Amino acid sequence: MKRREFVNDLLVGGGALLGTRTPAIAQHEGTSLQGVTPSLNEEVFVERAASGKPHAGKVLAAVQPHTDDVPIFAGGTVAKLVGEGYTGYLIRTTNDEMAGSGTTGQRVWDNERDTEGVAKALGLQKVFNLEYRNHQMDEISRVEMRARMIHLIRLLKIDTIVCYDPWGIYEENPDHYVTAQVVEAACWMAGMDLDYPEQLAGGLQPHAVTQKYYFARGPQIVNRVVDISAWIDRKVAANVANKTQGPSGENGARLRAKLAVQKVRLPILGNDDDAANRAYIKNIVLDYDSLSQRGVLSDRELGRRYGLEWAEAFHYIGPRQSLLDRYVSEHGVAL
Ligand SMILES: [Zn+2]
Repeated sequence: MKRREFVNDLLVGGGALLGTRTPAIAQHEGTSLQGVTPSLNEEVFVERAASGKPHAGKVLAAVQPHTDDVPIFAGGTVAKLVGEGYTGYLIRTTNDEMAGSGTTGQRVWDNERDTEGVAKALGLQKVFNLEYRNHQMDEISRVEMRARMIHLIRLLKIDTIVCYDPWGIYEENPDHYVTAQVVEAACWMAGMDLDYPEQLAGGLQPHAVTQKYYFARGPQIVNRVVDISAWIDRKVAANVANKTQGPSGENGARLRAKLAVQKVRLPILGNDDDAANRAYIKNIVLDYDSLSQRGVLSDRELGRRYGLEWAEAFHYIGPRQSLLDRYVSEHGVAL
């Protein structure tokens, strides 16, 4: 395969690297790709809607530095996984003090309120705010934050993480890459039986995260595309909650009012503010103007390439499945 085609198949996050060639699609369901260490020639697995509650009994944590990160890039997948049975939590690592208007205290409060709205829209049970200072996470002690994350993973028994890709390239925000890198290390270290013995003495058990959905706002190696068609309106609702920062919130109503002054009407924005906000997010932020507003391909266009209505892209890392028992059963002989 020519290098350009090869890169286009894999790097679907950034607009400048988007190819027109349709990537290879693994249409099958199942576990064929789970447990395989992602490599540069791995097929893209399409995760479709599941019937019933196949994830009942499992725990998910959506981890984000800022209140708008998960809603923008992974809100559909989080809503889907919770809808399919996961118990979900939201972990926000900063205090978002640098986004919004008014005093610092007002901005912190506005974003805290928005974060609660995001959790509610996505069906998440509780928010844990770690409150590191916004834009300054490159100065924190990563070991201190890692200990907090390990404590949460063990306490909540988190099986699955949705977070920024710690290996995503061209990420310029230190809050994004520090959070992702700390989470990545905490996921496996939480399963060790020697790290942080005081937590174990306090009654917690080692518990490793076994499934990770990593999203990025720039190019990344994508090996999983999730069908969020049934959850797109829930994703829109989570983005409506982000009124203080980000491309969504009440920008639809603002555009509708601005155009009215100019004696212009966009029919897609409907007849009231709430309809305008939802239609703007769904059709403009997540679709028509996605590359400008989010830095990634339109959810609708990504879906179209995989025969879906709406989709989100991830670098997914799943549990490793040992073949040792099968080898022993096939090759073992009686003593
Ligand atoms: Zn962010």
